Amino acid sequence: MMDLIYEGKVKKVYQDPKSPERVIIEFTDLVTAGDGEKKEEIMGKGKLTSELTKYLLGYLEGKGIDTHFVKAHDEKQILCRKVEIYPVEVVCRNIAAGSFCRRYGLEKGKVLEEPLVEFFVKDDGLHDPLITQSGIVSLGLVSEEVLQFMKSVTLSVNYYLSELLQQRNLSLVDFKLEFGRTDAGHIVLADELSGDTMRVWDTNSESLDKDVFREDRGEIIEVYAKLIESLKESKPEEVEDRQEIIQVIVMPKKGIKNPPGEVTKKALVRLGFGVADDVRVGKLFSVVLKTPLTSEILAQLKLMNIKLLSNPISENSEVNLS
Ligand code: C5P
Repeated sequence: MMDLIYEGKVKKVYQDPKSPERVIIEFTDLVTAGDGEKKEEIMGKGKLTSELTKYLLGYLEGKGIDTHFVKAHDEKQILCRKVEIYPVEVVCRNIAAGSFCRRYGLEKGKVLEEPLVEFFVKDDGLHDPLITQSGIVSLGLVSEEVLQFMKSVTLSVNYYLSELLQQRNLSLVDFKLEFGRTDAGHIVLADELSGDTMRVWDTNSESLDKDVFREDRGEIIEVYAKLIESLKESKPEEVEDRQEIIQVIVMPKKGIKNPPGEVTKKALVRLGFGVADDVRVGKLFSVVLKTPLTSEILAQLKLMNIKLLSNPISENSEVNLS
């Protein structure tokens, strides 16, 4: 008997009896939609969401994204690192669908100019409301740094998933991610990644995801199985690495003399631009990363910043992840 430590709408989380730092996540056969209003038990669904999550989290790990996934446990269960889940859900959209269309009165199918990252408060009682980045920071739900980290990883996930699906002529419409923090302080991609949490369309805009259940358009088991079969034919090794760019901004501290700033200000005044009361000149480093952002890379960037890029006595610096 394993200790049940959390029960969600369609998943159960057990303490791993072998390690306090691990949990076993079980995917049940329940399917819910519309804030839990529509609910059904569909035999075999848990096995499929588990299989898809294993495949996709394993693939993302292979591309350098830090996830909670350790290994398969059994058909419906996966072994994961134990994390504390951050109270925000991150949604990334490439094509308008679902709540995005309802909110802005759009026809589904509009291709967005660029991938959009949205945040929602993880609170069933409040029906997971949309929240701005400043709202999250002001309410103290997640720090600015963690937020930027999540956004950066979400865009990497979007790239790697989209490219893989593209190989199979499938489009990644949107998906939802959750992130967690390990005891050691590492931020990792958590939860599941399956037809339950993403929208995928084939070339005829037919859904291979939970929309078939939401909108009574077919058998979820059939489309989930089709999605897995199709993904198994993909070639992860052929997906090219994505370059991640991080900026480090270094500015002289208040009160520290900044001759380049003074010269610039004088020049501005001479040219008739009298608006500037003070000008300070700093430095901006653009660092192209070899892999997606992880907590270890973030720690390295901060160390690099203190040791080399800035002088902590006279300068303030900031690692800008977004
Ligand atoms: O409903 P909405 O259009 O906002 O959903 C965007 C994406 O996030 C969809 O792929 C949906 O399946 C997923 N999602 C989720 N869990 C939620 C809300 C949305 O997996 N609580």
